[in-house]
Amino acid sequence: MYKPTLDYAQQQDKEDKLAHLRAQFHIPKDAKGNDWLYFTGNSLGLQPKQTQQYIQQELDDWAKYGVEGHFEARNPWMPYHEFLTNSMAKIVGAKPLEVVVMNTLTTNLHLLMVSFYQPTKTKYKIVIESDAFPSDRYAVQSQLKFHGFDTEEGLIEWKPREGEELLRIEDLEKIVDEQGDEIALLLIGGVNYYTGQYLDIKRIAEIGHAKNCMVGIDLAHGAGNISPELHDSGIDFAAWCTYKYLNSGPGSLAGLFVHEKHAHNKELPRFAGWWNHNKETRFNMRQPFDVMPGAEGWQLSNPPILSMAAIRASLDMFEEVGMEALRAKSEKLTGYFEYLINQIDTDRIKIITSSNPKERGCQLSIQVKNADKSLHKKLTENNIITDWREPDVIRCAPVPMYNSFEDVYRMVEILKTLL
Ligand SMILES: *Cc1c(COP(=O)(O)O)cnc(C)c1O
Repeated sequence: MYKPTLDYAQQQDKEDKLAHLRAQFHIPKDAKGNDWLYFTGNSLGLQPKQTQQYIQQELDDWAKYGVEGHFEARNPWMPYHEFLTNSMAKIVGAKPLEVVVMNTLTTNLHLLMVSFYQPTKTKYKIVIESDAFPSDRYAVQSQLKFHGFDTEEGLIEWKPREGEELLRIEDLEKIVDEQGDEIALLLIGGVNYYTGQYLDIKRIAEIGHAKNCMVGIDLAHGAGNISPELHDSGIDFAAWCTYKYLNSGPGSLAGLFVHEKHAHNKELPRFAGWWNHNKETRFNMRQPFDVMPGAEGWQLSNPPILSMAAIRASLDMFEEVGMEALRAKSEKLTGYFEYLINQIDTDRIKIITSSNPKERGCQLSIQVKNADKSLHKKLTENNIITDWREPDVIRCAPVPMYNSFEDVYRMVEILKTLL
């Protein structure tokens, strides 16, 4: 049904009910004022135009009210994080009780492991994907070390088979079947940052729980990209950053999910601060620690409102459009991208991301044989912003909020001429 012509791409944009959203973002431009073809929303999402006004409002209220802004600001700072919870919960398919926005991703992973990585002498190993994001690997290794275990021996890698790029769920099943008695935790990227593979999170939870392992998911490349249905998946916990597909700005705060089944367990080991203490008595200041139920019970500090304002600006857009419409466009847009790449008459190109739309988000990871970083440089010189991974992979994410069919068409036309 797709056609490899500019006319066709432009027609798709005309018919696209979400096409108007692009104008609500700042699209970076070259020196001559031409829009970049921006395909790195998987690394840093673009800035919604309304973000400035959301942040400005908090600056104004700070100027006007000083400390009274905690209660008097138009969006009072005391409960500010609560304004983000419902929209964020919808995006990841969770109940509001299960979600909170706080800290940054790696910090949240550590705080979650304080509670959900409780190794014993015999059951202490952690399973990650062999291509896990470096920060996750370091975090897990440091947890092993912190508990007195060997970081090599305690870490089990779920690897693609020889000659393959993608992970097979049967292989995880085999690992857990054989070594489950020694495994305490599975910590898996729901959408792999390198291959773009979207794993069956529910299946991972079943596999882990069958052997009494805790199951955590890193959703950095999933939140705002796919619809992970975290509550129904049954996983124990998850964390994700908001500066990738959630367009909240560099280094912005992260999301955290703790499944409802753990919401009222006050016995779970955890770190404490005044922000996970009972809201009602927080300012009495002299009460013994009384932990809040749900995901809020993992907060420690009062949060940075300016960063939260940026998240609010973005979540309000997601709330308006809904993940369902975004996913529908995304499948079509990435499908078109895949189609155009497959039309290129060359044997140098291989898409390592799954060809099944249910097993990927918007990103395609494109392997280019005999290419080096100069290809990436040439793409950049042609205003095409992509991400290069050594030795030979271009990661490219057409984001349904602001990328167009024409973007994708132009990108592939230029890629063709560079090969
Ligand atoms: C982007 C990303 C991170 C980054 O972690 P920060 O704590 O936000 O710096 C970690 N893990 C994964 C899987 C990521 O994709």
